[in-house]
Amino acid sequence: THFGFDEVPENEKQTRVNEVFSSVAKRYDVMNDLMSLGIHRVWKDYFIGIIKPNASWNYIDVAGGTGDIAFRYLNYIDRNFRQTPTPTPTLTPTPPPTDLSSTPEINISSTPTHSYMADSRTESLICPTSNCVVVDINSNMLNIGRQRAQENNLASRIQWIEGNAESLPFQNEQFDLYTIAFGIRNCTHYDNVVKEAYRVLKKGGRFLCLEFSQINNPLLRYAYDQYSVTFIPPLGQIIAGDWKSYQYLIESIRQFPSQEEFSSVIPVWLSEFIKSKPNHVQAAGQNCYKKE
Ligand code: SAM
Repeated sequence: THFGFDEVPENEKQTRVNEVFSSVAKRYDVMNDLMSLGIHRVWKDYFIGIIKPNASWNYIDVAGGTGDIAFRYLNYIDRNFRQTPTPTPTLTPTPPPTDLSSTPEINISSTPTHSYMADSRTESLICPTSNCVVVDINSNMLNIGRQRAQENNLASRIQWIEGNAESLPFQNEQFDLYTIAFGIRNCTHYDNVVKEAYRVLKKGGRFLCLEFSQINNPLLRYAYDQYSVTFIPPLGQIIAGDWKSYQYLIESIRQFPSQEEFSSVIPVWLSEFIKSKPNHVQAAGQNCYKKE
């Protein structure tokens, strides 16, 4: 069955996408695990690993859905910039007093107060409770994210904002890091998303995009095509009672440009955006753009 998403007029795409995510929101996380056999967790961990976040950054995750990327970001910060517990005082034993009338001596050596651990990239002291902003156009996805944040004691550290990646509700140059994971292909104008990312990033800020793309190995591609067509929509029907949304998922992946096409067009969009300074964008590694 063809969902016919490619035949949807441009001005209706967002409405249809919103219907898809409203419908799947409750089952979104469990479906991700089932469809990818848990591998989406590895991709997301890898993504955060590439970023190597710094706890002093102002961070925004766009199309953040139920918060998977934001939670990983905060966990990374906690693991790498954690507050060291006050060490237990070490008692240095002294020989028992020969004269029992004198007071025994105890030497206590300890670090007096809490200290913050910075990793090797930063020498500065850093607050371990760094915050982040998650933006998504769909309130159903955000509500699930809020619940999960509460369950994981992260509620106070994440701001959930309903907004469109193509026109972000922020002033210029607010963020050090912008991520968008499995989000951009759901937007209507990819170029507007990238331009908005550029606008809200500070100078020196980074844009990172995680997205499905084309599989170059023909055998793997065949295996994936068979798997996706045979299993994903039926799984969507059984678990989420929604065949069509998962049909959309595989079609939207198929329609997304190849890795090379996508990464080569980003500087073109940005140079359109900053015509006077076309060299503003420089590749800072695979899938990572640094605003200069
Ligand atoms: N980033 C999350 C993750 O990796 O699990 C969620 C990805 S989910 C596949 C795609 C998300 O993009 C959905 O939550 C959807 O509501 C959101 N989305 C679609 N169009 C959007 C837009 N124009 N602006 C912001 N978010 C959008």
